[in-house]
Amino acid sequence: MKNFIFIGAPGAGKGTQAALVRDELKLAHISTGDMLRAAVKAGTPLGEQAKQYMDAGKLVPDEVIIGLVAERLQEPDVDQGSILDGFPRTVAQAEALQQMLSEQHIELTAAVLFDVSEEAVVQRLSGRRVCKSCGAIFHVTNNPPKETGVCDVCGGELYQRDDDEETAIRQRLASFRKDTEPVLSFYDKLGKLVTIDASASPAEVNERFKRFLATLG
Ligand code: AMP
Repeated sequence: MKNFIFIGAPGAGKGTQAALVRDELKLAHISTGDMLRAAVKAGTPLGEQAKQYMDAGKLVPDEVIIGLVAERLQEPDVDQGSILDGFPRTVAQAEALQQMLSEQHIELTAAVLFDVSEEAVVQRLSGRRVCKSCGAIFHVTNNPPKETGVCDVCGGELYQRDDDEETAIRQRLASFRKDTEPVLSFYDKLGKLVTIDASASPAEVNERFKRFLATLG
């Protein structure tokens, strides 16, 4: 059973890679960003609380997000292995996760950093478009849908996330540097950190991930 954490600056492609790897390895894909966006869309109290932080490009408070993940880890699909995509993003979250994993006897396979420059991130995010219905991710120039504004997968409407607007992008990058980079040292100390150069196309980055998988046996 494989359990991964995918870490990356916004726009590093962790969500795209998580979707590919989830389908290839049949893992539960736990994206805290997707869960929060679903809560915002449904207008739940959690969604209302989270929206102000998300729109500003700020992190949702640790206790809120830790509670959300703790609940999600109780679902039966987690038994087949999992990818945590976008969590943990702070050392407090990483510590809470270690506790949850050990209580559930889940062993972390690796914390994978998708590494990419800040310039590439801004270019990627400003062109990113997401399907309103199924969450599939496109890019206006790097990975355009067959028909502008329409999802290739399900025919849903594509939109630009509010937090993919430039001021929010800058804020999210700052938050990655300040809050999430210490998480890398946390996993490095545990001997679990793996870095993948994510500056290439999604298909090439996926190949790189698979080469890493092959080393696991
Ligand atoms: P993402 O789709 O992973 O880029 O997440 C979008 C937004 O959701 C982030 O900018 C945060 O506001 C919030 N978010 C997602 N995951 C977390 C987390 N682990 N901790 C705090 N906030 C989060």
